[in-house]
Amino acid sequence: MDIEEISKHFIHVYNRNKIFTKGEDVYLYDDKGGKYLDMGAGIAVSALGYSNEEYKQGLKDQIDKLVHTSNLYFNEPSIKAAGYVTEATGLDRVFFTNSGTEAIEGAIKLARKYAYLKNKDSKGGIIAMEHSFHGRSMGALSVTGTKHYREPFEPLIGGVSFAEFNNLESVKALVTEDTCAIIMETLQGEGGIYPATEEFITGVRKLCDENGILLVLDEIQCGMGRTGKMFAYQHYGIKPDILTMAKALGCGVPVGAFAASERVAEAMCPGDHGTTYGGNPLATAAVCKVFEIYKDKDITGHVNEVAPYLFSRLLELKEKHNTIIKDVRGMGLMLGMELSIPAGQAVTEALKNNLILIQAGSNIIRFVPPLIIEKEHIDAMYNILDKIFYEPYGSVAAKKFKPV
Ligand SMILES: *Cc1c(COP(=O)(O)O)cnc(C)c1O
Repeated sequence: MDIEEISKHFIHVYNRNKIFTKGEDVYLYDDKGGKYLDMGAGIAVSALGYSNEEYKQGLKDQIDKLVHTSNLYFNEPSIKAAGYVTEATGLDRVFFTNSGTEAIEGAIKLARKYAYLKNKDSKGGIIAMEHSFHGRSMGALSVTGTKHYREPFEPLIGGVSFAEFNNLESVKALVTEDTCAIIMETLQGEGGIYPATEEFITGVRKLCDENGILLVLDEIQCGMGRTGKMFAYQHYGIKPDILTMAKALGCGVPVGAFAASERVAEAMCPGDHGTTYGGNPLATAAVCKVFEIYKDKDITGHVNEVAPYLFSRLLELKEKHNTIIKDVRGMGLMLGMELSIPAGQAVTEALKNNLILIQAGSNIIRFVPPLIIEKEHIDAMYNILDKIFYEPYGSVAAKKFKPV
């Protein structure tokens, strides 16, 4: 199929040049039969890799029973899934959505309603972080810390100010009596793979407690075992008031959720929020299967076993190609490699060598592989990266790259 011809029928917001037709384990196959090692997992979604038999069977069984009923009734998979989510998060109540963005919308609405009940004149101020990413809808965009994503779509929702991530003083400086929520990713993804420092996140938690502000953590990307715990905040001994999740929650079936503590959740009453599809039987059957497979296969245990190996191999590459690779950072299987060249060029070169990488920001490669990845796959990835970065910088292969 001719890519240019196909592209004509789509609104052009992505630059795409590949068609994948099937997946198996940690590999994707294109329409020409090419096999690709996937270090992107569909942007941190396909945590169980591709074509997991148990997962597929769970979906098939649910399709045979019931796909949709609307939220005017309970459905069995959602009851079970709500139990799994509340147990894994330590929060009390959950609302299922169709995407991460919608989970953010719900979280913002819940925070605003909570503030409104405390004070009808509340201005519902929200402090968000620079370089954050929370989604593309008008609400989620309003708290996204990248100016060029926001600007063309203004005016967005009001009352949002931006602090510097990992700078507690910058957050304190923005707190007013109108502040109802502080929203941030526990580990910034899109913005360049920056984990919250312990000092920062525990400081923000304390700041929230002292000022009656709700802490909203966005774990849409870093949650669901990716950092070696089910949720990244569990590394820091703190808990959010509201949590958003999506991506690996359904491992491919579109589903997200926001969860909250009882005290906060009770601010919402019938009529305040809703969704036609959210948490439908098919989506929540996927959520149930995901939690069950995580438990059976000890997915977080596996992450803790292979993640240090991925990190050490990336560090090895950094040593070897120190003019191209400036930094390696992250947590678990959510790692970033900062380059001195545009990441897009490295991603393109990797794809030519049957390795799928995704970027974060302009010069960072983001490693978010399926969580079932093994050391042998990491070695294969290493060899491809070693080849495309070549040694030393300035060699024939590396000259293809234009330094930033
Ligand atoms: C992907 C992502 C979102 C948006 O999720 P969608 O499912 O694309 O709507 C929000 N926040 C974070 C941290 C994300 O990584």
